Amino acid sequence: MKNIYGIVGHPVAQSLSPAMHQAAYKFNKIDAEYKLFDIDPEDPENLANFCYETDINNIAGFSVTMPYKQEIMRYMDNYDPLAKIVDSVNTVVNEDSKLIGYNTDTTGAIQALQEKTKLPDKKVLIMGAGGAARAIAYGLKEFGSDVYVFNRTKEKAKVLADEFELDMIDFLQIPKANFDIIINATSVGMSPNTEESLLYVDQIPKNSVVMDIVTNPMETQLLKEAKKAGAETITGERMLLHQACGQFEIWFGKSAPIEAMEAALYENLET
Ligand code: NAP
Repeated sequence: MKNIYGIVGHPVAQSLSPAMHQAAYKFNKIDAEYKLFDIDPEDPENLANFCYETDINNIAGFSVTMPYKQEIMRYMDNYDPLAKIVDSVNTVVNEDSKLIGYNTDTTGAIQALQEKTKLPDKKVLIMGAGGAARAIAYGLKEFGSDVYVFNRTKEKAKVLADEFELDMIDFLQIPKANFDIIINATSVGMSPNTEESLLYVDQIPKNSVVMDIVTNPMETQLLKEAKKAGAETITGERMLLHQACGQFEIWFGKSAPIEAMEAALYENLET
């Protein structure tokens, strides 16, 4: 019987993951299918039932997206150490009926940044202190960046800063700090609030690299402001692509066919 993979989240109808993963299966002639598993958050038993029924449904692995990256952890039999450190699971493997949780957001974000810049000794601002910010902050520290965090809710920024030994920064100090890299890891700028941005042109250094991990829209207001400032920009779908490649590698134990996955991603972004 065909192995089933898929994405668990809500909503998932617009997810770009099926296109990327199906393209990878086709390229590698893998007899598997990648489905959408939209789990209604109104009924807390839905996620539990999904996890208990993976064997019956022939589910060999799945991606996890908002709002379940933390909640799914309670149904895991074991974790990869990175998932435990960043306290978030975006990839699950069904290994002999045991669910093992992984996180590929960290490597996805790092690889997206490395396409445009080197990371050691760079002064980096992360805006946000949620699950994605946490995954990215940990990766940047490991690569030797000097990481500062700003978050709307200061207490959450403090928790993150204390745990990963980051610096905190007040919003008004950001323009003076002259960051090499600025990352938006909040949902600010996401559809339908596409005109919102945490920073505007005058607050962004000309020689910086600005990455927004929001994928809807691809060119956020922050990235428009960064372009006006003369900065380099990285759109959110680069992280999306690399985290999906990481998932393929965990599930199939071989290099992901990145070009096939990338082509499928951009084809679907355009439609
Ligand atoms: P999360 O855990 O819910 O965290 C949300 C963050 O956004 C928090 O820091 C929150 O601040 C901040 N925020 C929300 N609304 C805000 C506002 N109006 N003003 C200022 N800050 C605001 O979510 P997450 O999982 O980290 O995801 C964050 C974003 O990253 C989402 O847009 C998600 O789609 C995107 N993402 C993209 C990828 C990718 O591969 N490209 C991967 C993962 C996530 P408070 O703490 O003050 O609430």
